[in-house]
Amino acid sequence: MTARAVVPGNHEALDGRTLPVEDPSTGTVIAHVARGGAAEVDRAVAATRAATRTMRDSLPLERGRALRRLAVEVDAAAEDLARLESLDTGKPLSLARREVAGCVGYLDYYAGAAGTLQGDTIPLGPGTLAWTVPEPVGVSAHIVPWNAPLSMLCRSVAPALAAGNTAVVKPAELTPLTALRFADLVAAAGFPAGAYEVVTGLGAEAGAALAAHGGIGSLTFTGSVDTGRAVLRAAAEHVTPVVTELGGKSPQIVFADADLDEVARQVVLGFTANSGQYCDAGSRVLVDRAVAADLVERIRVRAGALTLGAGADDPDLGPMVSAQHRRRVTDYVDLGRAEGADAPTPPQALPTVGHFVAPTVFTAVTPTMRIAREEIFGPVLAVLEFGTEAEALDLADATDYGLGVGIHTADVDRALRVADRVDAGYVMVNDYFAGGPAVPFGGTKLSGTGRERGLVALESYLTRKTVVVRRAPCT
Ligand code: NAD
Repeated sequence: MTARAVVPGNHEALDGRTLPVEDPSTGTVIAHVARGGAAEVDRAVAATRAATRTMRDSLPLERGRALRRLAVEVDAAAEDLARLESLDTGKPLSLARREVAGCVGYLDYYAGAAGTLQGDTIPLGPGTLAWTVPEPVGVSAHIVPWNAPLSMLCRSVAPALAAGNTAVVKPAELTPLTALRFADLVAAAGFPAGAYEVVTGLGAEAGAALAAHGGIGSLTFTGSVDTGRAVLRAAAEHVTPVVTELGGKSPQIVFADADLDEVARQVVLGFTANSGQYCDAGSRVLVDRAVAADLVERIRVRAGALTLGAGADDPDLGPMVSAQHRRRVTDYVDLGRAEGADAPTPPQALPTVGHFVAPTVFTAVTPTMRIAREEIFGPVLAVLEFGTEAEALDLADATDYGLGVGIHTADVDRALRVADRVDAGYVMVNDYFAGGPAVPFGGTKLSGTGRERGLVALESYLTRKTVVVRRAPCT
């Protein structure tokens, strides 16, 4: 693609403006996309509104079949999509392939779920009957982040379509390419024109206009806490219901009876997968003091052996998504040292081009340090030590976030006790990143509101109409 080309399939901005899209593995521009704003959002919402009647009147099983066809289309295009995602985000090709397979999983799951929509009947005594009917919200809006673009998109668009809605998507300006390619696949699967529209552009322009739009019936926002707040404020104008999936500072809690070699493997996966750019990255380890030195040694050996490189070369770690984000992460590494925490220089030599950060493991971390409390969104781990289970719980809850928690122990009672008490939305015992499309996911505190995945996610794209009928009395 030349630097002047606009990605095929992307609606042009009405004023012809474009944005460059970069390959973060090399820093070179690989495409240009339309720089949409309020006018383009109006156009997309109007197009999707025109299709809401068709979607709403379709039989749930028909929608399920269309989602199944879409799953087949995505699966058939999986290698192209994975290569595009890897190029656009810098993520290793194998990881991009797994994320595309995850999208197929969301589409398959919600294809089956479409036919499960039901209401309730409520007995109100002789002669009076009440029932509820699930109804689509109409146009569902989705603002998507850059860290797992197609995966996050499918996670919310699949249940929205299953529930009988249309969808307008605003992908992140850094990584818009797979959302555009997905539009072709939605059309090929036989969804009506206008069922899925994409507006590319900047968050402050296209994203803000979509969040504030009066024509949308729901908004799903996945991204940072600050933007989440802005989106909630904008949506308040029209009292639009919002699902927010925000950041995290997720701990892996390691008790002394755990299998330390397996824990070290999971900890390293937890803080380095996608170069640490996952909302539920296990970016803190809380470890029993008795085994802390042993565990840290195992973690450092494993982390030091990881390879860094361009996404297409399929290393263990790709680059940060942008030069700006790399600076943010390395500023946190400098801050950790300035705060008095200890991290040896990682052994890896960084590639000479691209936005790379090597996996960095901090010890001598205290709970009040910023590197222990703030989301870094890079391959940086903070290790904190505890003496008792109660201290472990206090440390786990000592941030403003409440997304993922990993618990590692051979003691089932202890695992269930900690799972009950910890303040978080998603707890994984002895298997970090366990889950799938059927398993609800979301956070507490600043990590967000609402749940995605599972049948419960359908509720974010439905209203429940209640009908109460009084019949003539029986004679
Ligand atoms: P971001 O908030 O900068 O951007 C997210 C999206 O919001 C982008 O599409 C962006 O263009 C748009 N946006 C920016 N400003 C906007 C505005 N004023 N109005 C409307 N939209 C606007 O987040 P990011 O940096 O792309 O993503 C990283 C963050 O996302 C991290 O904090 C991460 O934890 C979080 N995240 C959470 C989950 C989850 O499920 N909880 C999943 C993935 C990422």
